[in-house]
Amino acid sequence: MKSLLPLEEYELFRAGFDQPSHVGLRVNTLKISVSDFISIAPFSLAPIGDWEPAAFTVTDDSRPGRHPYHDAGLYYLQEPSAMVASPLLEPRPADLTVDLAAAPGGKSTHLASLMAGWPPDLSMSPLRRMLDQDGLLIANDVSSSRSRHLAENLARMGATGVLVTQSEPERVAAELGAVADAVLVDAPCSGEGMFRRRGEVEWSEAMVAACSRRQQHILSAAAELVSPGGRLVYSTCTFSPEENEQVIAEFLSAHADFGMKEPRRGYGFDKGRAEWSDATDDIAEQVSRAVRLWPYRFPGEGHFLALMNRQNGPIGDKVEWRPFGRRMPSAEENRLWRTFANGLIDLHPPEERLHVHRGRLYLLPKTAPDPGRVRIVRYGVWLGEFRPARFHPAHDLALALNAADVRRVVTLSSDDPRLAGYLAGSDIPADGSSSGHDSWTLLTIDGYGLGWAKRVGSTLKNHYPHTWRRRGGHAP
Ligand code: SAM
Repeated sequence: MKSLLPLEEYELFRAGFDQPSHVGLRVNTLKISVSDFISIAPFSLAPIGDWEPAAFTVTDDSRPGRHPYHDAGLYYLQEPSAMVASPLLEPRPADLTVDLAAAPGGKSTHLASLMAGWPPDLSMSPLRRMLDQDGLLIANDVSSSRSRHLAENLARMGATGVLVTQSEPERVAAELGAVADAVLVDAPCSGEGMFRRRGEVEWSEAMVAACSRRQQHILSAAAELVSPGGRLVYSTCTFSPEENEQVIAEFLSAHADFGMKEPRRGYGFDKGRAEWSDATDDIAEQVSRAVRLWPYRFPGEGHFLALMNRQNGPIGDKVEWRPFGRRMPSAEENRLWRTFANGLIDLHPPEERLHVHRGRLYLLPKTAPDPGRVRIVRYGVWLGEFRPARFHPAHDLALALNAADVRRVVTLSSDDPRLAGYLAGSDIPADGSSSGHDSWTLLTIDGYGLGWAKRVGSTLKNHYPHTWRRRGGHAP
């Protein structure tokens, strides 16, 4: 960096490493409005910029990752610079949007909330809203363990119109073709923007070069997914020109149908460094339209972002996608689901959107393309699974509901001492507010779905999933 930056800037850059890093919190507007969250937030928050009213830094030393509002998906803890990528792509409610390197889901959960439109209609739960939602977010990651984590985070946030997949970007592009209105590539990188947070890291010039080659491959695959007139955002959390300006310059030289767009710039959004791109004048000029977030000018760890669009071809003429070949529930499965749903949730999704896979029932998004040989991790909302002679609701369903949606509900306030026990997997005492014996009850925190319980006498039997349970309680 010393050889790249003017000395004065380098000194600022270097001094930044002695400063503490910021804790970023993005309010999940799929579940709660920003003003409602501020009125209940147990942390001190400072807004980051007017480009995203839901973006905050936590300014006290509380631990928002341990608060039960986090388990209920009222917010996502995200590095502040990473919050810039999804608004830059401007996904619209009816868009087919693809996030190609999506795990663990910071940017995908953000895309999902932007696709709900602004301001989102919070008179309905995410599940109810999904019935009329036209758009689709395809969130893909190459790694199998990370894509499962991605699916969990999307479920926690109540992102419903989503297809989570796990495949190489090349395969996603080959199977789907130019179907997307908007594509995000948040590329794996050498992670120089993570040095301050992580302390000890692995880094070498060879690693930077290898990342740069991999980024070129991923970006070329991403380009095949973009429909004419569609948008493409490339981002990294690293500073090296080889992984940023030079990747974009090489991509633009090889893809004449793509051009850089000038994004709306917020405070602290610096320009791309044309002189680092090693490109011809025309391409270098385009590269300067990128966004560089420097930790000494923006309250985050740093990012590089480039917004492009695909220019040629008849604008709006997309490749037609093949509809997904769902597997319908059997008559018996239908009966079990209806018995559960009629008794508890006042919601009647159209039958043609129900899909069964390996004994699990899913509610498909309205827009449901067939992803071919791309591996599906989760399609739409996982409603539950069929056990012998009964239906067992999924945790994902609880997270897409709120108190107004269900007939049997126990609402706890965030300071209720029973919450810590529930989140750790214990049965908890019931009060008089629920009814029904041995029947499914939605447990909510201040009305927001948190998980399932079954009432047996004066006890609520715990059905919080083992993999989601806490050790050591929570710290409000
Ligand atoms: N967008 C994510 C978020 O906001 O939470 C972070 C993505 S992280 C920077 C990069 C991701 O790329 C990792 O999850 C990693 O598994 C994935 N990845 C690694 N190699 C890849 C490849 N060849 N193709 C696609 N994704 C890859």
